[in-house]
Amino acid sequence: MKDEFAFIRSIQPGSHHQPTVVAGIGDDAALYDSEDGWHEIATVDTLVEDIHFSKKTMTAYQTGHRALAVNISDIAAMGGRPVFYLVAITVPKSGTWTEDELGDIYRGMGDLAAKYRMDLIGGDTNSTHDKLVVSVTVIGRVEKGVKLLRTNARPGDSVFVTGPVGSSAAGLDLLLNKGLEAGKENKWAAAHQTPMPQVQAGRIIAEAGLRTALNDISDGLASEAHEIAEASGVTIELEWERIPHELDGEERQKEWALFGGEDFQLIGCAGKEDAKKLRQLFEKDGLPFYKIGTVTEGSGVWLTEQGERTRLDKGGYNHFT
Ligand code: ADP
Ligand code: MG
Repeated sequence: MKDEFAFIRSIQPGSHHQPTVVAGIGDDAALYDSEDGWHEIATVDTLVEDIHFSKKTMTAYQTGHRALAVNISDIAAMGGRPVFYLVAITVPKSGTWTEDELGDIYRGMGDLAAKYRMDLIGGDTNSTHDKLVVSVTVIGRVEKGVKLLRTNARPGDSVFVTGPVGSSAAGLDLLLNKGLEAGKENKWAAAHQTPMPQVQAGRIIAEAGLRTALNDISDGLASEAHEIAEASGVTIELEWERIPHELDGEERQKEWALFGGEDFQLIGCAGKEDAKKLRQLFEKDGLPFYKIGTVTEGSGVWLTEQGERTRLDKGGYNHFT
């Protein structure tokens, strides 16, 4: 990168959507107002080249989209609306990423941000002798009193998901084996490259004001179910036949649907009657809602398939193993 300051100027937005911004990019830190009656939500996720993304499977634009999407998804899982984002980017000195490509990363983020009227209010620019690192922080807001925590599941609850799982894993497999070209206009590849966070679903759940445990599915359905089961001290029973996916006929469909992750659908638990209310609210807004299991007393996660019940491991990807 020739000039860090010129780069920052090039990605600085000319105006803001959010009236609560007092000072965005250009000073020591961003200054913004909170809103009466709302909790602030903060989340950060870092994407490292060749661990979380690669030029072999994603364009720069898609990398930007994805880097922001994974963070918005965490806000969605708290029932919040995303409001601001900050981007720390660490650029290889080797020049493997051109300024145009870096610009594309910001365009990928910017186009997704515009959908939610989010503003870029800051960041940091660094260089490295290693790979590209993109770290995005998102600030969101949710109505005071809404706490969609993973500790909220209770025996008797229904378990639900907001959409099909496993497509992203199928897409990544396709891209790794057949390359970027093969991924064009492919539904699975798009699920991997440009995932859509389930903000609308999260907002319906928040506004319903019902006790709900909610997680976004970043590490796989099994892994997220385990997190809720552990945090709430309950057993989660899943039924394979009820789990929505778009992988019919695929040999690895179970692996992808249960352990794939990164589809960024939401998994939740709510009282049986409350889940029915949620289904109605989702249907009213034209969104799908799938009951995939139940919560019982105990611990761990189980999967029933054709009447046969087996323990379901976390599986998925763990950075410490
Ligand atoms: P400081 O030395 O005070 O940290 P910087 O030069 O790092 O200032 O940043 C100047 C301004 O530009 C700040 O508002 C900062 O948030 C913003 N900024 C820096 N790098 C980026 C980036 N990569 N993306 C978005 N905003 C950035
Ligand atoms: Mg700085």
